[in-house]
Amino acid sequence: MDAADIEKDLAQIHFTEEQIQAKLKELAARIEQDYEGKDLLIIGVLRGAVMVMADLARSFSRHVEMDWMAISSYGSGTKSSGVVRIQKDLDTDITNRHVLIVEDIIDTGLTLTWLVSNLQSRKPASLEICTAFRKPDAAKMSVPVKYVGLELPDEFVVGYGLDYAEKYRNLRCVATLAPHVYS
Ligand code: 5GP
Repeated sequence: MDAADIEKDLAQIHFTEEQIQAKLKELAARIEQDYEGKDLLIIGVLRGAVMVMADLARSFSRHVEMDWMAISSYGSGTKSSGVVRIQKDLDTDITNRHVLIVEDIIDTGLTLTWLVSNLQSRKPASLEICTAFRKPDAAKMSVPVKYVGLELPDEFVVGYGLDYAEKYRNLRCVATLAPHVYS
């Protein structure tokens, strides 16, 4: 499969690589300012957040520690249910640490709400959330999201870490898929 093969599968590009990178640089600058003088640990949720973590971390001109969690959320169709299982836990003890969760996308926010309550029980010094993308349903979430990148409509998208059947994660843009992909 070459690049052209992937591009044929896209219906609409919502955000280009340039738009995503510009927004991440803006978020990184805000985060750097807010955490000045504090050690920062960023936690990525596998596998979708790999690209955001890599680009965000490299936009910092300060030290930042990185750790990863893998969780699976059970749901029907493309929506999650909030029933979550830890597949890989953190390697770091986050007690008294300044922690920032880095997410790819927030849709219902059920997965994230579960994650926040799990991490809060470990008594971090602070806990905030950063997401590259957010969908309209996230407005109903009870947990505040301090750093929000780009707003998407309520449509299934792929790219920049987001997959469809484990494909399209390596796209540099975020796009909806053409109908022929699903048939
Ligand atoms: P939530 O619990 O917020 O409803 O779901 C969050 C997770 O669902 C995300 O971390 C992501 O893995 C997945 N997700 C939500 N919307 C999309 C989407 O449009 N495309 C893809 N590929 N995954 C999505």
